[in-house]
Amino acid sequence: MAMGTGESVGRLSCHFCASYDVERLYLASVHLDSCACRGCGARWDEDPATGEYCGRSGKESGVTPRP
Ligand SMILES: [Zn+2]
Repeated sequence: MAMGTGESVGRLSCHFCASYDVERLYLASVHLDSCACRGCGARWDEDPATGEYCGRSGKESGVTPRP
């Protein structure tokens, strides 16, 4: 797929492997985007407004939802 307008595209990529195949889920309770890369499997949280990296998600340490 094309890169679109080029605006705010960079922050949509994976922080670890630069893949754009990233699932994003907005968590209203904590005001964060929970991101999961389908390329390398990394998970992390981002500020949905700025795209600022908020550290790797630790929520899976105890509970790991798997299909
Ligand atoms: Zn990745």
